[in-house]
Amino acid sequence: MLTGAGVSAESGVPTFRDAQSGLWADFKPEDLATPRAFRRNPRLVWEWYAWRRKLVAGVNPNPAHLALAEMESLFPEFHLVTQNVDGLHQRAGSREVIELHGNITRVKCFDEDTVVSTWNETGDVPPKCTRCGGLLRPDVVWFEEALPEGAMERAGAASARCDVFLSIGTSTVVYPAASLPYEALRGGATVVEINPQPTPLSEQAHHAFPLAAGAIVPELLAEIKRLRGQSGAPAKANP
Ligand code: NAD
Repeated sequence: MLTGAGVSAESGVPTFRDAQSGLWADFKPEDLATPRAFRRNPRLVWEWYAWRRKLVAGVNPNPAHLALAEMESLFPEFHLVTQNVDGLHQRAGSREVIELHGNITRVKCFDEDTVVSTWNETGDVPPKCTRCGGLLRPDVVWFEEALPEGAMERAGAASARCDVFLSIGTSTVVYPAASLPYEALRGGATVVEINPQPTPLSEQAHHAFPLAAGAIVPELLAEIKRLRGQSGAPAKANP
């Protein structure tokens, strides 16, 4: 399964394509979430992420995150691949999460590319790496950057061999993540999309539900549990 920003929308985390609000209304994410933007104005980029980090810390997983976490315990093989950087799947209880785009709660050194857990509060914005003096940045994948090593390979392999592939709350335009449902289609999986808006995938998906994730994913979970209760056997599908 692949999730995108839409799965967190009902928690109150804005998607990129929603109108940006307040302080950041004048900035396009594409102008802030790139290495070039950080080199040009590290303070601006750090502050944008600090704002988003605070926003994410103040919200809770919604019924879709919670239902997906429970679904994981029902299947012998279950892969949750997310483009989200908010950590809400993990906070909802999902254990095996492939994060394609990193996690906003972590920080790394821009020069050394290593995760850093502490730094000195000197008032510098962004703070500096205590080891090399380089600038610290969020541990997320920016436009024009490579994905974390191995993440796309694992996600691609799981997509190619799954029986059911759910694509939830993603516009399916950001590659390479957007290639995963097509990988699943080629492998013969049943592909189900959940998104209130049509996407390039909608026409090709076997089922496209134009609904909010928070409404339909819990219903899907209830139906899976009902079917399992009827058969008494572990489900065969591995979405
Ligand atoms: P996107 O912003 O391009 O698209 C979000 C999609 O979610 C849209 O197609 C929209 O119609 C749909 N959507 C909105 N509300 C929904 C709901 N209630 N239920 C289901 N779907 C809903 O997001 P994307 O496809 O994830 O790709 C953009 C990039 O933005 C990704 O790289 C991601 O890392 C990043 N991003 C992440 C977060 C987050 O971590 N929460 C937030 C914003 C952007």
